[in-house]
Amino acid sequence: MDLQNAYKELGISDSIQRIGREVLSSLSERFQEIDERAEYGQLKVLQALKQNNVSEACLSGTTGYGYNDLGRDTLEKVYADVFHTEDALVRPQITCGTHALAIALSSMVRPGDEILSPVGAPYDTLLEVIGIRPSRGSLAEWGVTYAQADLKPDGSFDYDAIENRIGEHTKLVTIQRSRGYATRPSLSTEKIGALIRFLKGIKPGLICMVDNCYGEFTEITEPSDAGADLVVGSLIKNIGGGLAPVGGYIAGKKEYVEQCAFRLTSPGLGKEVGASLGLLPSFYQGLFFAPTVVANAVKSAVFAAGVFEKLGYPVFPKMTEPRYDIVQEIILGKPEKLIAFCRAIQASSPIDASFAPEPWPMPGYDCDVIMAAGTFTSGSSIELSADGPMREPYSVYFQGGLTFPHAKFAILSAAQATAGTGNMV
Ligand SMILES: *Cc1c(COP(=O)(O)O)cnc(C)c1O
Repeated sequence: MDLQNAYKELGISDSIQRIGREVLSSLSERFQEIDERAEYGQLKVLQALKQNNVSEACLSGTTGYGYNDLGRDTLEKVYADVFHTEDALVRPQITCGTHALAIALSSMVRPGDEILSPVGAPYDTLLEVIGIRPSRGSLAEWGVTYAQADLKPDGSFDYDAIENRIGEHTKLVTIQRSRGYATRPSLSTEKIGALIRFLKGIKPGLICMVDNCYGEFTEITEPSDAGADLVVGSLIKNIGGGLAPVGGYIAGKKEYVEQCAFRLTSPGLGKEVGASLGLLPSFYQGLFFAPTVVANAVKSAVFAAGVFEKLGYPVFPKMTEPRYDIVQEIILGKPEKLIAFCRAIQASSPIDASFAPEPWPMPGYDCDVIMAAGTFTSGSSIELSADGPMREPYSVYFQGGLTFPHAKFAILSAAQATAGTGNMV
């Protein structure tokens, strides 16, 4: 079997293949580190499954009210052990990451309280949850205010500005671990820990919540190991391992998690209700796979950075830089390159490979957006996906990859496709 010919038959030229090989050969140490992290994660998950006596009975779900759902309640203990927290809420009724974050925020604040983001603007969808961008049903409508301290130009915390923004009404601090779709570095748990110590040094009662979307298992530790009171995320990103078809989680202090449960279901009912239906096998197995799936996604991001760096494009983060999420930005510089990149990713997908993505006016954006995602689970971004706003500097955001060989092929295809659209940058 000749791999080189197999790639060639699929349209990858010898020169692009050579770039791929050169990049890969420079990455053996990095990949070894990533594999080691997956090993830590795997041991952590395995221990949590064992310690909670997960049995075959845990895999069958409930219907209706979902009282005494053994599998659901045990899974929540497993998550709590993985995050080293007192409790966790892990539910298919949490529809997405934004919903999980909205539940956590609205559970912990009351009218007159203020939310502070010390790391710049939060993820786009949270602008409407908080009411930074006026929106129906936002926390602003309930009399909750918001303050923000931006990161310094070098990406470090602006401690003076943060201290200035903490006041009598500051109740909760929201910290985003991933870079999301902003041009800022992702935050290590160590950095998050230092920030939380600083915040609590000023106001000990502050509730520190971390938006953990895209961050899980990218490091040996999680923000909850570094003092976060609540960590929040989506099951169709890292921690669902590509198998969970829906869901979100909130892990943290028992009192806070209960408070979130009363908000998710109903006062008085809390964690007691919420049928797991037939979803538990995918939740358990997805968690079991998550450390290695995340390792594949991180390898894919590093490889993509390397290939496009070699082709002369600015990339963030750079191939050799540390990363604490799975997002890779590549500045393509031209609209036709952005379209070609996304189409190549789509054409390399296991599902909907024949679709050609078109830019469209997505709600919440001030320009057209193009998205490629041929995923088993709709919208799942632990699966290989790419998207970008159709405006300067025509950046593509690339994330996910359930298997590295798949992502590698897709990245080489994207390199080939963008190379065919005129000058480099
Ligand atoms: C994806 C994401 C969210 C929102 O999650 P959805 O599932 O898309 O609603 C919030 N914060 C960050 C950092 C994310 O990456």
